[in-house]
Amino acid sequence: MTHLATMLATAIPAASAQSTPAETVRDVAYLVAAFLFIFGLKKLRSPKTARHGNALAATGMLVAILATYLAADPGAIWWAIATMILGSGIGAALAWRVQMTQMPQMVAMFNGFGGLASALVVGGEWMKAAFEGGLARPDALAMIGVSALIGCVTFSGSVVAAGKLHGAISGKPIKIPAQLVVNGACLSLAILCIVLMVTTGGAWWPLALVIVLALGLGVTLTLPIGGADMPVMVSLLNSYSGLAAAAAGFVVDYNKALIVSGALVGASGLILTAIMCKAMNRSLANVLFAGVGTADSTGSAGVSVEGKTVKSADADDAAIILDAAQRLMIVPGYGMAVAQAQHAVRELADALQERGVTVMYGVHPVAGRMPGHMNVLLAEADIPYEQLLDLDQANSEIDTCDVAMVIGANDVVNPAARHDQSSPIFGMPILDVDKAGTCFVLKRSLGAGYAGVDNELFFGDRTLMVFGDAKQTLQAILAALKVL
Ligand code: NDP
Repeated sequence: MTHLATMLATAIPAASAQSTPAETVRDVAYLVAAFLFIFGLKKLRSPKTARHGNALAATGMLVAILATYLAADPGAIWWAIATMILGSGIGAALAWRVQMTQMPQMVAMFNGFGGLASALVVGGEWMKAAFEGGLARPDALAMIGVSALIGCVTFSGSVVAAGKLHGAISGKPIKIPAQLVVNGACLSLAILCIVLMVTTGGAWWPLALVIVLALGLGVTLTLPIGGADMPVMVSLLNSYSGLAAAAAGFVVDYNKALIVSGALVGASGLILTAIMCKAMNRSLANVLFAGVGTADSTGSAGVSVEGKTVKSADADDAAIILDAAQRLMIVPGYGMAVAQAQHAVRELADALQERGVTVMYGVHPVAGRMPGHMNVLLAEADIPYEQLLDLDQANSEIDTCDVAMVIGANDVVNPAARHDQSSPIFGMPILDVDKAGTCFVLKRSLGAGYAGVDNELFFGDRTLMVFGDAKQTLQAILAALKVL
């Protein structure tokens, strides 16, 4: 949301420094837009109201765009419209082609471009001031430096994050010698350059140094983070992109839409980061510096079976047990997204409900590869929101369920998190599916999940592995159920 506002604000300069009636209307419209952003964000709290919230926030952005046009220099409007059409076309084409499983890297790139947009905006403002005479106010110069710093860190950090999520860069934490010292020195030097920029009245070289240092800092901050923790970093970078936009807002005639939307993105990104850390029972410092998570993708690590035996079942067995069940807890995970099995889940759940089975869904906050990943997929299949239980709600119901059906989830149901202090996921709250009467695990192999650790659930007394692609397995269970 901030990205569009950032580009508009720079593409369409205000008609004059004096406040005209059009500018007054614009400022009131910005206020309306800010209210719409805030209420939209509030509604994103629940899956039930999230779509409405999105629509409200998008309307707010439309109001902000129209208001910006209203008070703009008419000569600049056509450039803005042309670049908006071009940018929207590229964005739409990319979004159309991207697989659901590639969403995290796409979000990372969007954040990166948001940071870059803010840096370009303040760069443009600096050039305008430098070439048109009358260098900017000291506070504006400071904000140019701040926005360039945060925007460039966001950009290069997001490119590295997207590369790691996509597998183009190894998901293993890449350690940098004396990492804290190097990063601390880079940051201190960049801050010193911002001070020099202000004291020299806007000299070019401190700004250039800030940009170079920030681009390097983004890389050195992101490289040491393991692939499994990358979504947390992406959320943090999202927050940075908001802060960069808010800082740019101070430079561009105190643009209120930019300041408010940037601050909202900055704050909500930080809150989301905190929620994700809490869901993994980790501190942000641990996520940023511990280098946890070495796997590039799912299913790559082997399982040390050590003589333990796994009980497996086929679709016919599963159908018989499900038919006899009264209460079923479905636990989706990343594998459901890979298999695109959400519609098959819905069809099976409908058939079971027609047979009198009570169906509910236990949704872990970090299941999948991005926050809300499972909610989005389940909503796509029109699964009623009332049936979605969060971690605590699901765990309070699970021992009343005859069956728990784990669909492509692994780390979020790994009991080692409860007791194995040597496990990298120790302390992460999990869904206690091993407490249900029977636990089906639908996945293709005994391979590990994203954290790269073995899962003792597969060897549990009450566990039945149903091997295969999740969508195909669900369709086979439904077919078997229909002939019972
Ligand atoms: P996991 O990554 O732990 O496991 C996914 C499982 O899906 C794999 O073991 C794989 O097993 C299985 N799978 C893959 N493809 C298919 C398929 N076609 N059909 C059936 N199964 C399939 O997923 P979880 O959702 O349980 O956990 C998410 C992980 O991501 C956690 O470690 C979490 O901490 C981490 N994470 C998530 C964040 C988020 O925002 N959601 C943020 C930060 C981290 P197999 O190959 O055998 O089929």
